Amino acid sequence: MSLFSENILSLGTENAFKMGQHILKAEDKLGSVTKLNLGEPDFPLPIHIKDEIKRQLEANNTHYCDPKGLLTLREAVAENVSQTRKLDVDPERVVVFPGAKPSIGFVQQAYCSKGDEVIYPSPGFPIYESFIKYVGATPVPMHLHESNGFVWCPEKFASLITPNTKIIYLNSPSNPTGTVLSYEQIEEIAEIICRLCSKEVRVYSDEIYEKILFDDNEHVSIASMPGLEDRTIISSGFSKTYAWTGGRIGYAVFPTTKEAEVFKNLNINYFSCVSPYNQEAARVAINSHLSEKYVSEMVSIFQKRRDIIWDIFAGLNGVSCNKPGGAFYLFPNIGDVCEDLGILDYYEHMFKVDRSCMSPSGLFQNFALYHHGVAVLDRSSFGQLGSDNEHFIRVSIAADLQVLEEGIDKLSNAMVDKNGMNIFLDERPDCNLFPE
Ligand code: PMP
Repeated sequence: MSLFSENILSLGTENAFKMGQHILKAEDKLGSVTKLNLGEPDFPLPIHIKDEIKRQLEANNTHYCDPKGLLTLREAVAENVSQTRKLDVDPERVVVFPGAKPSIGFVQQAYCSKGDEVIYPSPGFPIYESFIKYVGATPVPMHLHESNGFVWCPEKFASLITPNTKIIYLNSPSNPTGTVLSYEQIEEIAEIICRLCSKEVRVYSDEIYEKILFDDNEHVSIASMPGLEDRTIISSGFSKTYAWTGGRIGYAVFPTTKEAEVFKNLNINYFSCVSPYNQEAARVAINSHLSEKYVSEMVSIFQKRRDIIWDIFAGLNGVSCNKPGGAFYLFPNIGDVCEDLGILDYYEHMFKVDRSCMSPSGLFQNFALYHHGVAVLDRSSFGQLGSDNEHFIRVSIAADLQVLEEGIDKLSNAMVDKNGMNIFLDERPDCNLFPE
C-alpha cells in the first residue's frame, strides 16, 4: 500500500515558495543573497489600510463571518468591477477568498470532470498548470513566444480548442512576462471563444496586476467583450495593488449567483471564511481616495526601475528581453548564455529522471544563486509542459534600485563565468537539499 494518494502525487507547485530553503543554504555559504525572485511589491501596506485593520481589531471584529465574504466588501468589489469593466455586477456574484490564488484551483474542482481540457498560458502563473492533473483534467498549454511579445496567437489558440475544452485561463498583465494584452487582442480571443466554445466553457481572467500598468497601457477585461460576461470569472485581489500579500484577500466575480454559491460552499469546506478585519480594510482600500495616489506612486517607481533594468539587459551579450508593459517582472531570454556556459550540453547528458525535475535555465538559476548569490526563477517555474527548449529567467523588479543593480551585476558575472559553472556542475550544491 502506498502512503500517498495518486492524486496528491500529481499535484504541482509554485517554485517561488520553494526557493527559500535554497536561499538559506546559499546564504550559509556566501553570506548574503540578492533576492530578485520575489513576487510581491517591496512597499509597506498603505497607512490608511493599516489603520483600518487596527480599528477593526480594536472593535473585536475577529470572529467567523460570511463564508462568501462580508457583504460590505462584496458591495465595494461589485461597484468597482462594474465601473472599471463597464458591467453591472450584483454583489451576490462576488466571492471573497484568502488571496487571488485559491479560486484558480477551485475553478478546476468546480467545473472539470475527468478528461476535460484546460487551456492556460505558458509561460504563465504556475498554479494554472499545477492543479490540472490533480483534478483528472488534461493540460493544454498555450505556448507564448518572445518573438511576438508573448501575446496570444489567435490561430494557435483556435487550434487548441476541442469539444473537451472546459476552462481557459487568461492573464493580463502577465506574470512572468509582463505582457499587457490590448483591446484588439482580447477582442480577438473573445471572438474565438464565442465562435468555437459551448456556453458551459469558463474563462478565468486573472486580473491581479490590473493596476500595475506602464506607459499608456490600459487594463482590458475579457468580461467586457460582447457575450463574455456570462462565461467569465474575473479574478483579482489586494496582494499586488496594495502591497498586501500577507493580508490574503482576493476575490472572484462569477457569471451567475448559482456559480458563486458553489464557490461559497468550497470556502465552507476548506477554510470557513476570510478574516473579517482584513476584509473591512480591503473595503477601505477600494473606497478610499488615498489609495489612488499610493498606487500611482508605486507604479511610477516600478516603471522607472523597469526602464533602467531593461536598458541594462538590452546591453548584455547573449541576452534578449521584451519590454514589459505591466506587472513587475522582466523575463530575459538566456538561451545563448546557457549554450556558452555548457549548460545545454550538460543537460543533454543528464539522466532522463533528473532532467524531468530540472531545466537548463533551472541549472543557471541555481548556479546564479549558489555561486554568485543572486536569486531569480527559471522558465520551468512558469509551466513545465513543453518548455524544455525555452531558456528564460524571471527577474523581479520589486526591490530597491540599488539592490536591483547589484543583482543584475551578479547575474551578468554569472553569465560569463565558465569556470565557476564547471565547478558548480561538478559539485551540484543545489541537490540533496533534504537528504533522506
Ligand atoms: N495570479 C497571478 C498571476 C499571480 O502572479 C499571483 C501571485 N504571484 C496570484 C494570482 C496569487 O495572488 P495572491 O497572493 O493574492 O493569492
